[in-house]
Amino acid sequence: MSQTDILSRARTVLHEVFGYADFRASQGAIIAALCGGQNVLALMPTGAGKSLCYQIPAILHDGLAVVISPLIALMDDQVAALRLAGVSAAALHGGTAPEEIRTIAADMRSGSLKLLYVAPERAVTARFLDFLHSVNISLIAIDEAHCVSQWGHDFRPEYRRLFMLAERFPHVPRIALTATADKETRADILHYLAMSDAQVFIDSFDRPNIDYQVVEKAGGKKQLLQFIRSQGKNVCGIVYCLSRRRVEDIAAFLCEEGFAALPYHAGLDMTVRTEHQRRFSREDGIIMVATIAFGMGIDKPDVRFVAHLDMPKSVEHFYQESGRAGRDGLPAVSWLCYGLNDWVLMRDRILEGNADDIQKNIEVAKLDTMLGYCECATCRRQFLLAHFQEQIAPCGHCDNCRRPPASFDALQPVQKLFSCVWRLGQQYPVSYVIDVLRGKSNDTITRNGHEQLSTFGIGSTLTIKEWRSVVRQCVAQGYLNISPVTQSLQLNATARDVLLGKQTIRLRVLRPARNGKKSAAPQTFRTERQEKLWQNLRAWRLERARREDIPAFVIFNDRTLQDLVENMPQSLAALSSIYGLGEAKIAAFGADIIAICGEAAQHDADGNTD
Ligand code: ADP
Ligand code: ZN
Repeated sequence: MSQTDILSRARTVLHEVFGYADFRASQGAIIAALCGGQNVLALMPTGAGKSLCYQIPAILHDGLAVVISPLIALMDDQVAALRLAGVSAAALHGGTAPEEIRTIAADMRSGSLKLLYVAPERAVTARFLDFLHSVNISLIAIDEAHCVSQWGHDFRPEYRRLFMLAERFPHVPRIALTATADKETRADILHYLAMSDAQVFIDSFDRPNIDYQVVEKAGGKKQLLQFIRSQGKNVCGIVYCLSRRRVEDIAAFLCEEGFAALPYHAGLDMTVRTEHQRRFSREDGIIMVATIAFGMGIDKPDVRFVAHLDMPKSVEHFYQESGRAGRDGLPAVSWLCYGLNDWVLMRDRILEGNADDIQKNIEVAKLDTMLGYCECATCRRQFLLAHFQEQIAPCGHCDNCRRPPASFDALQPVQKLFSCVWRLGQQYPVSYVIDVLRGKSNDTITRNGHEQLSTFGIGSTLTIKEWRSVVRQCVAQGYLNISPVTQSLQLNATARDVLLGKQTIRLRVLRPARNGKKSAAPQTFRTERQEKLWQNLRAWRLERARREDIPAFVIFNDRTLQDLVENMPQSLAALSSIYGLGEAKIAAFGADIIAICGEAAQHDADGNTD
């Protein structure tokens, strides 16, 4: 079959089975390569649509596609979604009942099963591999392929054994997929999965529907509350915190404030965790407060915000975590609240850890880049994408683009700061240095005789907050260092040129605290009538999902809902041009949907328009 034939058949499946109008980015090219028998490595950001890249070839080809996936919840959701779309799929993992396993085996033998999701440890057992030899395998997909790499943060040793699939099935095309893009991880995947011949596809990592916002920490809890309140009612979100204790604390706090918040961290009992994850994916308006233990495999498309209440370890972590917002392509917000203390704490953790020095250096450098993101005065998206080697123009809708931070010539205050640090012998922490600069004496300062220093009180025109901002920016720009042992402020070599006046230095003016409304997510505007239809469709979806015991978004997601509300289709034929409704879903739900939309139209005809 020619490439054009493959693509036109793939497009028919895209439309009829999945209800989508066209391929996104590399999807078409990936499908063509895989269908042409090539191995493929696909690097696409979260939410870009990796699954279709193997699901469509699986549907087009005779035989069974085997999908390696590390997370049970994710597998089950995918299988439920495929079945609703009319595709025969199953999952095999520790929780699969024996009779279900027998049915799966029978369907595999008869050739009726198109996709089988299987956990990595099970995929490489001799028994399973032998069984696979007795059936016709169309392709092998390895999801979350970065798990094979120690560079990534989700290393899973069992992934290293997946090279066996290449050995046992050398002629079956394989596709590895991941949202982790760095070069080291990519090389590891090709190496450990024996795929050096693979065609590599790298899509843009831009997530245009996510708004990036960063605020300086000033009593983080209240700021969080204000932020969440500004996001509208009943929205679903994730709040990431650094420690388990903080997770518990914040979850309880949000509950007291009337939100449906649930904690999630590795210290909770497995059954509690599973139940919380289940509620998060199936109910509306849940806010999950979590450590990074909550993450991989969250495929809920309508997460409207991801808030970080503490600074993440690296830009990679941050990007992956914030990327869990807005997978449906609708407006979403990434909100980050940070302070210099976060940076100090995290760095201490790294330095006190068990890693070797090389690893520690890598991690400290990553943390510094993260501080750079927090402190950057230009487009946040530009900063993030540059980190993934992508150049873009300023996005126009991050906080810095919307309200460009004013900057000022900071040579004088910075010189004052540096010389004060110098005169204090580089031996005192930030708060002490700021007290000396502002001429605020205390017992220790008097005892140390530091009231006599020439720099005592030369910085009294700036507030503590303003000085902290200056210090933070100097740390982010590499002029200053904070000793990991004593927490004292120290000058780096680059500070010399500034002290000698050989270099100019501009810093961002401290932002006034924002009021909640200004940071509100761009809401989709709906008329009263549309709002009513939205609520009716949503209630129907929830009821139906409960009945089928699947998450509501598997029936259809908010993007579909929005399309329905905007177009108010009145016939089954009109449904086929709605986003995300393929033939099987139209057959199953079409009548109900038309009835609900019809009611809304009737309401209009009766003259009740708004
Ligand atoms: P990820 O890359 O994170 O695994 P998914 O495969 O879960 O992303 O896809 C994210 C969402 O985008 C899903 O709801 C999926 O159905 C939808 N999607 C994928 N491809 C397309 C497309 N070509 N057009 C419209 N929606 C798509
Ligand atoms: Zn921007």
